[in-house]
Amino acid sequence: MVVLVFNCGSSSLKYELFETDPEQSLAAGIADRVVVRAGRDASLYHEPADGEPLVLECPMPDHEVAVGYVLEALTDSEHGVIRDLTEIAAVGHRVVHGGERFAESVLIDDDVIAAIEQFARLAPLHNPPNLQGIRASRSRLPSLPMVAVFDTAFHQTMPQYAYIYGLPYELYEQHGIRRYGFHGTSHRYVSQVAAEMLAQRGIRPQDQHIVTCHLGNGCSMAAVLGGKCIDTTMGFTPLEGLVMGTRCGDLDPAVVPYLCEKLGISVREVDALMNERSGLLGLSGVSSDMRDLRQAAQSGDERAKLAIEVFCYRVRKYIGAYAAALGGVDAVVFTAGIGENDAYVRRRCVEGLETLGLCLDGSRNEDKALRGQAADVSAADSPGRILVIPTDEELLIARDTAAIVGGTSLD
Ligand code: AMP
Repeated sequence: MVVLVFNCGSSSLKYELFETDPEQSLAAGIADRVVVRAGRDASLYHEPADGEPLVLECPMPDHEVAVGYVLEALTDSEHGVIRDLTEIAAVGHRVVHGGERFAESVLIDDDVIAAIEQFARLAPLHNPPNLQGIRASRSRLPSLPMVAVFDTAFHQTMPQYAYIYGLPYELYEQHGIRRYGFHGTSHRYVSQVAAEMLAQRGIRPQDQHIVTCHLGNGCSMAAVLGGKCIDTTMGFTPLEGLVMGTRCGDLDPAVVPYLCEKLGISVREVDALMNERSGLLGLSGVSSDMRDLRQAAQSGDERAKLAIEVFCYRVRKYIGAYAAALGGVDAVVFTAGIGENDAYVRRRCVEGLETLGLCLDGSRNEDKALRGQAADVSAADSPGRILVIPTDEELLIARDTAAIVGGTSLD
């Protein structure tokens, strides 16, 4: 089945076209700076799997126009990968927030759209552009079935004691204040790959204890027991948990009123400070990008060193916490930009965790030849495995879409 996957942000539209049987990516790309300055500086980058990329500067005042350019690129005689749009069987959309209603991917209808709209109050920066992408593609491809795949869905199996905060219970009932978790599609994808790797070592899927670490610009971890998420570090919003590129992660909430008072700034300004000027950027004063920090640290920059230290310590601490939550660890998985590429960070994140049965093979961890593939970088006799698994959220969205449209079961 040919499935088109959209991941729509406020000013960008990422896409990938898949054949799902056998699985193969046909083309991928991004429409960038959509809407910004009425889309005047917008561009489309389109890359066929076997062919030359296409770069187009074209005005894209809204997402519908952007979808139009994407569809043209996919069918273009020179850079296209399908003859015409009738070859596309379905469209899968990434949606950030599915609230408590969606524990799985669903076929999109008007009722689902209304629910996504309702959850926009919980994800004001994400659900509205996700919806714009859905509406734009429904308008351009009105006859096609569409599926929504939610970032929050994988975490819906958390027990209540893991997702509830120590606040008055009415705030949960009346305002939905609880831990939702994000990056669920990535955690689900890499935990499935890890589950297959552990099964090959004779550990039955239902007995597996897996900790997944998605370390990119945004960072989160999940504790996965027998394939089900039982805890995750991001919370009511993607601000909680690990230290990230620009987000602070865990913080004493009393810091917020203190800063408002001391600095004479509004809650909204503190919120922006915690989301946009904190984390690796705020600690180092250098950059939010781990590559820059590693370079600065190598040149002796003390604050860059501190930022990396804080980053790795927080991950290490959560591995310990999740070992306790799971009752043991069969595998720790590293994924996303930092997790897949930065051997030093991986080493620091598992340093001293031999007591939990996690022993790294230092040279396999550094082996660049293993990049881009699922790799076991633990020592041969390590009781628990340390795995590096490239994430592929788009592929999982395509799989779910094909399963729902084709009437087969998910996973
Ligand atoms: P993502 O959000 O998954 O694209 O990840 C972005 C983060 O991955 C940034 O902090 C990048 O600096 C980091 N990253 C990407 N490639 C590398 C690399 N080769 N070494 C270290 N960090 C990397």
